[in-house]
Amino acid sequence: MKYQVAIIGGGPAGYTAAEAAGKAGLSVVLFEKNALGGVCLNEGCIPTKALLYSAKVLDMAKHASKYAVSVSQPSFDLGKMVARKSKVVRKLVLGVKARLTAQQVTIVQGEAFVVDAHTIRCGEDTYECEKMMLCTGSRSVIPPIEGLGDVPYWTHKDALDNKEMFHSLTVIGGGVIGMEFASLFNSLGISVTVVEMQNEILGGIDGELAAMLRNEYGKRGVRFLLNTRVLSVKQTDGLIKVTCECSGETVEVESERLLLSVGRRPQTEGFGLENLNLERDARNCIKTDEHLLTSAPDVYVCGDLNGKSLLAHTAVREAETAVRHILGEPDAMDYRAIPGVVYTNPEVASVGSTEDALRNAGMAYEVIRIPMSFSGRFVAENEGQNGLCKALVGSDGTLLGLHMLGNPSSELIVMGGMMIADGRKFSEWKRYVFPHPTVGEVLREL
Ligand SMILES: Cc1cc2nc3c(=O)[nH]c(=O)nc-3n(C[C@H](O)[C@H](O)[C@H](O)COP(=O)(O)OP(=O)(O)OC[C@H]3O[C@@H](n4cnc5c(N)ncnc54)[C@H](O)[C@@H]3O)c2cc1C
Repeated sequence: MKYQVAIIGGGPAGYTAAEAAGKAGLSVVLFEKNALGGVCLNEGCIPTKALLYSAKVLDMAKHASKYAVSVSQPSFDLGKMVARKSKVVRKLVLGVKARLTAQQVTIVQGEAFVVDAHTIRCGEDTYECEKMMLCTGSRSVIPPIEGLGDVPYWTHKDALDNKEMFHSLTVIGGGVIGMEFASLFNSLGISVTVVEMQNEILGGIDGELAAMLRNEYGKRGVRFLLNTRVLSVKQTDGLIKVTCECSGETVEVESERLLLSVGRRPQTEGFGLENLNLERDARNCIKTDEHLLTSAPDVYVCGDLNGKSLLAHTAVREAETAVRHILGEPDAMDYRAIPGVVYTNPEVASVGSTEDALRNAGMAYEVIRIPMSFSGRFVAENEGQNGLCKALVGSDGTLLGLHMLGNPSSELIVMGGMMIADGRKFSEWKRYVFPHPTVGEVLREL
């Protein structure tokens, strides 16, 4: 079996590449060992957002009286929320399959193994290809904590499929995934403790916004243990006891459930990657150039596997860039303007540099910040809440970073990304007419 392009992994990187290459008339084979859609559709972006939306509806019902609407005793059914989440996932996975089939992509259900740069084995069959794209994604990191092997802990997958209510949860790791689950379970009335090793949650996100979000969730009852290292875990009388160390003191947290969310690592093992002997970068990640090409002339690595950004939208853009390179069309991957969103309620969204990054790079910048309440629409729809919009502007007036706290910043942040990617002056927002009233008008007000 011979194909022009062979792709391993059917997540956002793999299915985007397959669709784009198929559309361009190339013969494509895509291998997927689990479900099309990868982590993103099946156990990541989409299922978390489906459940978080149920939680948001519940929160709105609970706080309806703020808007002069009465709802008597809002309640929920976790089993049905999870069933709805699974329905959303099924629909989107079927959509991916239909799109690939429409482009004549051959989909092989099975675990692929790389024999060499032009040969893949899957089961009994051998496939030859002109170009190979590796898109095997990433896996959850399980930290080496004493006693972990003897306690029933959750990763994100278990947390997404759990249908039984419980009373308390400890989340180890206050990053994006940890905070999204803390938000979800807090809304469901579960007592949540977040244990974070760093001095602030959401490492890599603007520190001021992270602190504001932490304060907001603190008010809602989430307990945060910062600068706190987990030493051991143990199960006692149906509870999981987490023993931590904070500034030389021992702290113990007990809860019914334990969720690990300490990060993700590229999935580099088990599929013959070593047979390609690809060059690695300083972080030991597979080295790719701006076309996602590796040190092997016909092998591309896209998505989480290259360890550059571990976000679905990066994976998609990388896959498009790589396919365009295969087609001989000009394009190059630019990592300067990749938005990051935390889908808590309120949302946090950011793009470009943070103040820390600019300071470390010794770059001059000005901070322009306004409360989200500068938008009339925000005030009308967010009773008793505030947020922040913060732009970092270079000495030549170009936008270097945009950081927002408040809904719906996930939908607005791309405007900052476009300016940063195009190196445009931040004052240019004033030239455009924004619909009124919209929350996006805060950008004109900056
Ligand atoms: C809980 C959670 C929430 C997230 N939320 C967001 C979010 O809101 N926004 C966002 O941008 N990102 C989010 N992410 C990250 C996002 O899911 C990943 O960045 C994205 O899925 C990466 O896409 P990918 O194609 O590189 O890999 P994946 O989606 O991981 O897909 C890789 C695929 O390769 C398959 N595979 C691996 N090895 C083989 C083999 N040998 N043969 C055949 N198939 C193989 C796997 O089965 C998998 O389906 C989240 C992740 C998690 C865990």
